[in-house]
Amino acid sequence: MVAVMGVLRRVLLRASRSPWLARQMRNRRFVRRAVTRFLPGEDAESALKAAQIFATQGILSVLTELGENVADRADAEAVTRDYLKVLDRITEQRIPAQLSVKLTHLGLDLGRDICAAQLSTLVKRADALGNFVWIDMESSEYTDVTLDLFREMRRQVPNVGVCLQAYLHRTPRDLEQLMPLKPSIRLVKGAYNEPKEIAVSSKRKVSERYLDLARELLDNLSSQYHPPGFGTHDMRLVNWIRAYARGRSIAADCYEVQMLYGIRSEDQRRLAADGCRVRVLISYGTAWFAWYMRRLAERPANIWTVARSMMAP
Ligand SMILES: Cc1cc2nc3c(=O)[nH]c(=O)nc-3n(C[C@H](O)[C@H](O)[C@H](O)COP(=O)(O)OP(=O)(O)OC[C@H]3O[C@@H](n4cnc5c(N)ncnc54)[C@H](O)[C@@H]3O)c2cc1C
Repeated sequence: MVAVMGVLRRVLLRASRSPWLARQMRNRRFVRRAVTRFLPGEDAESALKAAQIFATQGILSVLTELGENVADRADAEAVTRDYLKVLDRITEQRIPAQLSVKLTHLGLDLGRDICAAQLSTLVKRADALGNFVWIDMESSEYTDVTLDLFREMRRQVPNVGVCLQAYLHRTPRDLEQLMPLKPSIRLVKGAYNEPKEIAVSSKRKVSERYLDLARELLDNLSSQYHPPGFGTHDMRLVNWIRAYARGRSIAADCYEVQMLYGIRSEDQRRLAADGCRVRVLISYGTAWFAWYMRRLAERPANIWTVARSMMAP
């Protein structure tokens, strides 16, 4: 069974990179219906509205426009403009929401400098508005340049954080090297198809790595600018992190549990009601195909949701 799941995961992750399949699926009604489980709508307004509702439940948000690997400079600039508008809307509406961005969505494939210019515009505006921008971590071919751009931005402003993936062999060393910068870190397991020379593949080992890194982050809170974000739906990890923090008298607002919209929603509310600082990542936009395939790969049982939507009238 584990082997079958592994193969299915690899197939889904390979499919996530197919522009042909993306075109085929994008307009299929049953796929669109299944996707709505993971995003409140395709436009930014739906995401802002969802963030407002979360705020009434004591849950913080982080908004991200779906899309990656843009191949045209004008598209990267348009994405930046969209994000600037969203930052303004967040400020006007006083929503406790931050931004999370993918560097290939901001033109990284077109050149480091093109992407750096977009990112710098965003983090500076967020800084002026008292907001915060997280940088997602994409597949391993981008790890070096992502960390490099994070360092460059961090030297300009404090309000920028980066995601680290526990499955990468290199991550403990990356974390150690980032610490002198007083960084802000979101820790996740990792969502891409990586070879074993680059990443741990056993689920158990990834979780062990995750806990080692979480301990490192919790033991060194004063060396970080923003409370570390533990991005996981794995309640065993969440419970461990909370117990570890309690055992060291770390206040509940000194770290965040971050989850995705539509996944473990009841746990999100329960944790927030229990005093835990919870932040939900809300996606929006039309380019959801690759992202949605990664969500299916994380839990192949989600394929039944697609199958059910196929059968619905
Ligand atoms: C806020 C946030 C930001 C992220 N940013 C990045 C990033 O920048 N780069 C990156 O590589 N990855 C990112 N990820 C994804 C992450 O790497 C994992 O792929 C994802 O979180 C699944 O791992 P898990 O820790 O939730 O544990 P898992 O062991 O995969 O899941 C634990 C349980 O959570 C539930 N669950 C998990 N995923 C799903 C799903 N898709 N559908 C339904 N139920 C599910 C299931 O009940 C499952 O048993 C992010 C995740 C979060 C929450």
